[in-house]
Amino acid sequence: MDRERLIQIFKDRDVGEILIDEPMKRHTSFKIGGPVDMMIIPRGEEQIVEAIGLCRRNNIPFYIMGNGTNLLVKDGGLRGVVIKINEGMNDIIVHRDSIVCGAGALLTGVSRRAMKSSLTGMEFANGIPGTVGGAVTMNAGAYGGEMKDVIIRVRALDREGNIREYSNEDMNFRYRGSRVVDEGLIVLEVEFQLKEGDYSAIKETMEDLTFRRKSKQPLELPSGGSTFKRPVGYYAGKLIEDSGLKGLRHGGAQVSEKHCGFVVNIDEASCKDVLELISVIQKTVRDKYGVKLEREIKLIGEDS
Ligand SMILES: Cc1cc2nc3c(=O)[nH]c(=O)nc-3n(C[C@H](O)[C@H](O)[C@H](O)COP(=O)(O)OP(=O)(O)OC[C@H]3O[C@@H](n4cnc5c(N)ncnc54)[C@H](O)[C@@H]3O)c2cc1C
Repeated sequence: MDRERLIQIFKDRDVGEILIDEPMKRHTSFKIGGPVDMMIIPRGEEQIVEAIGLCRRNNIPFYIMGNGTNLLVKDGGLRGVVIKINEGMNDIIVHRDSIVCGAGALLTGVSRRAMKSSLTGMEFANGIPGTVGGAVTMNAGAYGGEMKDVIIRVRALDREGNIREYSNEDMNFRYRGSRVVDEGLIVLEVEFQLKEGDYSAIKETMEDLTFRRKSKQPLELPSGGSTFKRPVGYYAGKLIEDSGLKGLRHGGAQVSEKHCGFVVNIDEASCKDVLELISVIQKTVRDKYGVKLEREIKLIGEDS
């Protein structure tokens, strides 16, 4: 995309921080991804509305991201604009039995605030490294809980440019998906319904889940979390391990030695390395067990 034209369109507009030719590897937990023509980091709803309006009116492709913990960006990067809804929009307001937060708030931060306020319900989300917006999109979940269980209201921008409020039922939550995916909504604010609880019990549960996560997951290496969705009746990690793929390396990417459900970036992996390794895993598991592993991580961008 023509950088000069992009800069001309966005300069002097109130859209937040602007970065040009920004390497996406700086913004993804996988530490992979070529440059995006322009990244915008808004500080509020008005700036998001303005940025999206400008993209739509000028036919500029745009992509919304949160904390980049479920994203695999191709080595050629992205043309157009990435709008990163993260630290600029991370207010967390605690009410008597609910929490309202900006889409850019980190889930772990929300869980910790809930604990400090002796509110129970968000313990499961501690340790999921994404933003609230990303978690609503994916209906993120862990250890028996998911976003669907705790959300009562989502404020979002729809495709027509209207800001609307959605109830839990409106959101079409399902395993790793929601209405956000179906309709290209942009999540702005979320309200979680919680219950008064016992501070020590909440803290104990969160510490236990953190311990389980740290002992089982390769948190010391860059990754995009679980590479595959859970196939019905199986665990992806176990199928991969039983297929003899533990530790298999391709370029800088590897099937984690600690948890085979994770592909990790052990040495400057390219997106191509990861995608080729994913293909080998899918083919091996399909040939051996007849199970189709579907990628959970979102793939965006273009080849170099
Ligand atoms: C070590 C590790 C552990 C993980 N553990 C878990 C786990 O236990 N459970 C789990 O469910 N996931 C887990 N994940 C995956 C990931 O953290 C979640 O999917 C998370 O919800 C993604 O949030 P994000 O802000 O990083 O979104 P991103 O990766 O930035 O984006 C993911 C999707 O959400 C969309 N999106 C982001 N923000 C918005 C917004 N405001 N409005 C509209 N769309 C938006 C993007 O367009 C994209 O489609 C893990 C990841 C890692 C790296």
